[in-house]
Amino acid sequence: MPDSVLSATDLRKIYGDTVAVDGVSFHVGRNEIVGLLGPNGAGKTTTINMILGVLEPTSGRIVIEGVDIAAHRLAALGGTNFAAVYAPLPGNLTVAQNLRIFGLIYGVRDVAARTEALLDQFELAGFRNMKSGALSSGEQTRLSLAKALLNRPHLLLLDEPTASLDPASARDIRGSIREFAARGEGGVLWTSHNMYEVEEVCQRVLFLSHGRILLEGDPRSLPREHGKATLEELFIAVAREPLSLERS
Ligand code: ATP
Repeated sequence: MPDSVLSATDLRKIYGDTVAVDGVSFHVGRNEIVGLLGPNGAGKTTTINMILGVLEPTSGRIVIEGVDIAAHRLAALGGTNFAAVYAPLPGNLTVAQNLRIFGLIYGVRDVAARTEALLDQFELAGFRNMKSGALSSGEQTRLSLAKALLNRPHLLLLDEPTASLDPASARDIRGSIREFAARGEGGVLWTSHNMYEVEEVCQRVLFLSHGRILLEGDPRSLPREHGKATLEELFIAVAREPLSLERS
């Protein structure tokens, strides 16, 4: 794919007898938001952790902006970032300290200005001197997203970014991420169990089941193509009867 920020080829992860990811291939374009969907245990987090370089694939290839992460890990991952509810920032640091320290770790040139811009963008300025651990879960999510944008990533991995947010905050976050992708700054791989959100945000979805991609396409037309009224119905069918969908 010519303007892919991410391309994964025949990615596989095996733990003993468990095949967590079973030969998946996909790409994410520069200003695209791609949804990675699938029931619990389908292999979404394992896939994301391999792309982040946290887990080593059993086999397969991951290329970020043309750079193979197995060969040039630092160069490939320098333009990547992620946010996930299960990876909160150090709770004993204040909001501003967290952004500053991560900014320094990432080698952001204008850390102070970048921190201020992100505090404003995610409405965190009023919390700057508060310990991160004392923030509400929605505020922590906003901080994780601010941290994820510090290095102006070209590939953003978001694992259920709106899981703990109220509907108004979730909408704001979706707006911020859509803006990020629309500006052409990067591509986004987004996991979510909220099909309404997926339809609103993602241009393309990948349905994962038992570590394999069963379906791929536009979340607005995919349900009809498979005889389902909604994305949620299609999701439930994929989760319950993956084999019948594979045959159809
Ligand atoms: P969820 O929606 O519940 O977060 P997921 O799609 O992210 O699920 P993964 O966490 O990627 O799923 O797990 C895929 C499979 O791999 C599951 O069957 C899980 O039990 C298994 N698995 C994940 N990590 C390990 C591990 N370290 N050792 C053994 N099995 C593992």
